[in-house]
Amino acid sequence: MNSKRKVLISGASIAGPTLGFWLAKYGFEVTIVERSRSLRLGGQNLDVRGAGRAIVRMMGIEKEILAANTGEIGLQFVNRNNEVEAEFPAEGANSFTSEAEILRGDLVNILHEHTKNDVKYVFGKSITSIHQKPDKIEVTLNDKESELFDLLIAADGVRSTTRTLIFGDEPELKFAGLYNAWFTIPRMERDTQWARWYTAPGSRVMLLRPDNHGTIRASFSFLSDDKKYPNQSDREQKKVLKDKLLGAGWEEDRLMKEIDDNNEVYFDGISQVKAPRWFDGRAGMIGDAAYCPTPLTGMGTTLAMVGAYLLAGELSRRDRHEDAFAAYEKRMRPFVEKVQKLPPGVPWLAHPKSKLGVSIVNTVAALLASRPVRMVGQLFGNKEKDVTKDEIELPVFD
Ligand SMILES: Cc1cc2nc3c(=O)[nH]c(=O)nc-3n(C[C@H](O)[C@H](O)[C@H](O)COP(=O)(O)OP(=O)(O)OC[C@H]3O[C@@H](n4cnc5c(N)ncnc54)[C@H](O)[C@@H]3O)c2cc1C
Repeated sequence: MNSKRKVLISGASIAGPTLGFWLAKYGFEVTIVERSRSLRLGGQNLDVRGAGRAIVRMMGIEKEILAANTGEIGLQFVNRNNEVEAEFPAEGANSFTSEAEILRGDLVNILHEHTKNDVKYVFGKSITSIHQKPDKIEVTLNDKESELFDLLIAADGVRSTTRTLIFGDEPELKFAGLYNAWFTIPRMERDTQWARWYTAPGSRVMLLRPDNHGTIRASFSFLSDDKKYPNQSDREQKKVLKDKLLGAGWEEDRLMKEIDDNNEVYFDGISQVKAPRWFDGRAGMIGDAAYCPTPLTGMGTTLAMVGAYLLAGELSRRDRHEDAFAAYEKRMRPFVEKVQKLPPGVPWLAHPKSKLGVSIVNTVAALLASRPVRMVGQLFGNKEKDVTKDEIELPVFD
């Protein structure tokens, strides 16, 4: 029914290639345009849970994902002297570390490997304008080349510029008042297979996680209402990070040095995307571009994969894209709204201002760790709330 409908997807990370995988399987002709010159492989661990896990199983990549496990054995809360205050081993569905814990870059690579023969990838380009016609959508790239497609789907992340081309400023970017920097640093002798979480006064958190590449994935987050940082240059952003790190203690000196030396510090404000519509005419959006839930939920990857699977499936079953978009949105929106609900106190609870606040966080963590049900997520996000595949129906579309 759908053979050779031409679809352009913007963004080659998680949502875009997953959508490409399924659309190609259903006989669509798919092109993915990615702004970077090659796949962007940075970032820390992503976890694939519940419905996301069911989808990777259907895609035949679950074993590869499990084999690429980071090797993290759990989470430790440490104090300024690197003494362990609380410990959450990686066991059971409620732990911070999940069974299918994979580096973002490894997952991006796996998805690319499994789509590159059926999907056309165009790197180093992005969309600069779109023109919706009754029977096609005309898309122009930054090399001035234009091409007609049947559909255009933006899957280019929380700061999607394609989204703006389609919807203007209608979608809302709801800033959580939290900034996060992710970067990869060399492993040292004192690093273990535990993720180590350090809460510093001044609403700052450092998190060091081991990986399966012999390096350490560092993250540094802090509370701030200042909205200018995302528009600053890399140099200015590094200065902001170093200023914020000052006096934090623990691995402060190590991170300071690494920020200076590192060319791939991914720094952004943590924001949710709230959009009243996900489609307009022949164009639409999925993944973080459409409904970023923030990394605080631990559900960005699952939402991106579920959205891609359902959208491709609905398109495969219906001739009219309008009907497919409506059917998809009906399934997907309640799930997105549920996931986007942050528990009360997140992210402020995990980023206390004072020394007293820090000791409270560590004490509460220790208390939670000592209980049989280790609900660390209740304090630090709703990651523990494992959204099982039963919470959203995943029809088989074949
Ligand atoms: C470099 C990087 C590191 C990340 N690190 C983490 C992390 O450590 N922890 C975490 O929880 N989440 C991280 N994320 C976000 C995480 O990948 C997403 O929340 C989630 O997996 C949903 O993915 P997505 O495909 O919707 O969007 P994203 O993963 O954000 O991917 C968007 C893709 O679109 C590309 N792109 C952007 N603008 C354009 C454009 N105009 N034209 C074409 N392509 C464009 C980007 O280069 C990227 O490849 C990171 C994202 C990126 C891009």
